[in-house]
Amino acid sequence: MHTKMERAEKGMKNGPREIGHLTYDILKESINLPTEKRLAKGPVVIIECTEDIPCDPCVEACKLQAIKKENLTSPPRVDYERCTGCTLCIDICPGLAIFVVDCSHDGKAHVYIPYEMLPVPKRGEEVAALDRSGKAVGKAEVLKIRKGERGTSVIAIAVDRNLAMEVRSIKVNKDNGEK
Ligand code: SF4
Ligand code: SF4
Repeated sequence: MHTKMERAEKGMKNGPREIGHLTYDILKESINLPTEKRLAKGPVVIIECTEDIPCDPCVEACKLQAIKKENLTSPPRVDYERCTGCTLCIDICPGLAIFVVDCSHDGKAHVYIPYEMLPVPKRGEEVAALDRSGKAVGKAEVLKIRKGERGTSVIAIAVDRNLAMEVRSIKVNKDNGEK
């Protein structure tokens, strides 16, 4: 795991601020991700928060103490064995940086994403699956929607298994969905 300063000292790839978005390669260099074995076991949180910012509602949100921060500004660390993938921390994060990935299904991965756009898609709807840069990389089926108390929805989508660590947003056909 490397902070932004450590990345610069080691001559590693530019961070998300320099290129405008996070990539999987940067994520792998920045945080400890769950192992393939843990991913295959069932839903687990992926926290894509790599900057040193004074924020910690995610720590409070997890009643299983799976999320910890060394101090207010340090990036969150996850104990993947404690996390049950309940998704309750997703809509708490003001940075929309928390996801849950479930690779325990055959063929498809289920990805839970925070969503604040309109229209909100309907269950069963096909939407475009977007990567961290906003590029469409495939199709997704909307499995379920939970409207969070603070206005952020949590949407579960099914995508091809090889896209589990790439898809982090969706684009809804404006002619569909709830307004
Ligand atoms: S998904 Fe649930 S168990 Fe996992 S870190 Fe978030 S709140 Fe904790
Ligand atoms: S709530 Fe979100 S933005 Fe704040 S520290 Fe946690 S993951 Fe990062």
